[in-house]
Amino acid sequence: MNDQDLLRYSRQIILPEVGIEGQQALLDSTMLLIGVGGLGSPSAMYLAAAGVGHLIIADFDKVELSNLQRQVIHHTDDIGEFKVDSAKAKMLSINPDVKITTVKDLDENNLNAWVDKSDIVLDGTDNFDTRFKINKACVEQKTPLVSAAVIRFEGQLSVFKGYEAEKPCYQCLYSVEGNNDENCTDNGILAPVAGMLGTMQALQAIKVILNLGEQLVGKLMIIDALDLSFRNVTINKDKSCTICNK
Ligand SMILES: [Zn+2]
Repeated sequence: MNDQDLLRYSRQIILPEVGIEGQQALLDSTMLLIGVGGLGSPSAMYLAAAGVGHLIIADFDKVELSNLQRQVIHHTDDIGEFKVDSAKAKMLSINPDVKITTVKDLDENNLNAWVDKSDIVLDGTDNFDTRFKINKACVEQKTPLVSAAVIRFEGQLSVFKGYEAEKPCYQCLYSVEGNNDENCTDNGILAPVAGMLGTMQALQAIKVILNLGEQLVGKLMIIDALDLSFRNVTINKDKSCTICNK
């Protein structure tokens, strides 16, 4: 770290739980953010600002007017642009020292390879099919998965390490059958609820890399933004899960 780095990250370095070593660990880390929408927008900005050295952002979508209400990394002038290009420009404007890799063609064929390049994965997608595939890749590559979901006034957050004994994976929590895809296109979402969960996802990713505090492994945090209530429930490993019982 040079003098500019020490100054840029000084308010983090001053924390005894982070320090120079912790900041260096962040600078040396690679995070894969899948989806630069309502969840990925705040997490991408905070992780760039916090000095995560390499951020890989994946999204095939382009910015639409109806995204702007909650996907705050994208601005009105970005409508029609690829979300990853729009996001990369803002992230580099916040912090030109981080490396940003954009991926527009993430699919089943290259997912494992991208996960393999990453120390941790943040899932900010909004459908079960994609979430199951990301979970499978993370279990196979032994990579922690920070999973968040938002709809209406509700949020959920957890960290999955299904590759560890007794630790559940995402599919231990949700079976493939019988899940109706609910998304905010059909059900709506209050903008700051996405902001809350996106920033909490970034927080958990940093905490896992630095091994700090409550990591939410084997726990699901359920947030009701109307009550402003937070509760944690335990998630057990499903002994019949076909993904994490190898
Ligand atoms: Zn499982």
